[in-house]
Amino acid sequence: MSTHDLLRVCNVSTRFLTETGQINAVEDISFTVRDGETFGIVGESGSGKSVTAHTIMGLIESPGRITSGEIWYRDSALADAVGVDESNGAFVNLVELDAETRRALRGPSFGMIFQDPMSSMDPSVTVGEQIAQAVEAQRRASTNPRSVSTRTQQYGLMRFVVDSLIPHRGYVSTESKQRAIELLDMAGIPDPTERAEAYPHEFSGGMLQRAMIAQALAGEPDVLVADEPTTALDVTIQAQILSLLSEIQAETDMSVILITHNLGVIARMCDRVGVMYAGEIVERGSLADIFEDAVHPYTKGLLGSVPDIDTPGARLEPVAGSVPSLVDEEMGERCYFADRCPKAMEACLDPPPEFDADTGTVLEDDTENRHGVKCVLAQRGYDPDASVSISNANSNSDGDIDSDDSKNTSADNTKDIFNPIKNVIKTISSETNANANADADADADADANPSSKTPSGEGEP
Ligand code: SF4
Repeated sequence: MSTHDLLRVCNVSTRFLTETGQINAVEDISFTVRDGETFGIVGESGSGKSVTAHTIMGLIESPGRITSGEIWYRDSALADAVGVDESNGAFVNLVELDAETRRALRGPSFGMIFQDPMSSMDPSVTVGEQIAQAVEAQRRASTNPRSVSTRTQQYGLMRFVVDSLIPHRGYVSTESKQRAIELLDMAGIPDPTERAEAYPHEFSGGMLQRAMIAQALAGEPDVLVADEPTTALDVTIQAQILSLLSEIQAETDMSVILITHNLGVIARMCDRVGVMYAGEIVERGSLADIFEDAVHPYTKGLLGSVPDIDTPGARLEPVAGSVPSLVDEEMGERCYFADRCPKAMEACLDPPPEFDADTGTVLEDDTENRHGVKCVLAQRGYDPDASVSISNANSNSDGDIDSDDSKNTSADNTKDIFNPIKNVIKTISSETNANANADADADADADANPSSKTPSGEGEP
């Protein structure tokens, strides 16, 4: 795997200005994605994972906007086309590009697998035609990659007239139809020529997820953003989809940003990981950094909520409480995890910077691929005498302190809940092995009998 950065996300914040107030959905996040690697983003629902995905894809719409930060993407042809400052080499700051250019990058440069394929595909257009349209966009881009304008589909008067007169005029071209069928075949769809003519509602959940992967790959993107690609699938189909993604990545060497709340998926698929909480990346590092050497109490809490295959029936340790409000005036100026943290101390009443987990010093370079953590424990040990209890209910914006010695007990209880990576991997292996003897055509069977679709067996960490 290459060690060259393809994407550098630097101090990016995305906010939504609503009637309730300003929602700080993504707050000052930084990470890099290298060529051919998989960067995982994990966290609870409401932690900002999907908004991060939409931010990278340029899909944030009003009342949301990127309020600060830079997203640097390496593309020498694009850099020449838009005339970037030479000091940045072949990197272009996506945040500064106009909307049309950003849109043009979707497909050829950035592909996305959306969370819910059923609601993400057009129900009135056949699956094959939707994929063919993505193929056509890529064909336009490849005719002149140095020109931004050729990356977009021009919707002129003539096209408007044709679409009005013949609303269902079929595939854009014979070539794009053939390519769509090839992509469906690559995604493991049986009888792809026949299935290309089917509508989304005629696909099972697993089949539609495969079709969405085919569509995302139509542009041969450099970066694939996969937002919870297996959430709604049972474990058999989940394992098949993950294997498919791994195979395609090995063939194409594309980079993947994988968003999930499932630590098993992260352990199986990712090279490096960012843990999100309340819009922040509170810990990031290699897979080993996160699973074997976690520092942040939230990361440890997530790991502690994973079943241990060696102790079946053992009680899981959930992370108490829930994700705080992301309304700006309710968040306060402190560590956002403080009201749930068993190791909260007086020092936590100031927002912690990102520390190097190995040295305890503040990380100055956001693009440095170190083990970073936004927690004072990276710098100092836990001091029970400095323990404080901070609750959302009574902290308000200034984070009032309640004296609560029970926190010390809680801290002791959480000390040993950390499960090492082997348990997570063993859990996933167990799930996969349990289904190893399942009929390889189970997904196809499900396709033939959509009513037999089973709900996901996975739970929130
Ligand atoms: S900074 Fe303090 S409150 Fe926040 S996670 Fe670390 S120890 Fe807990």
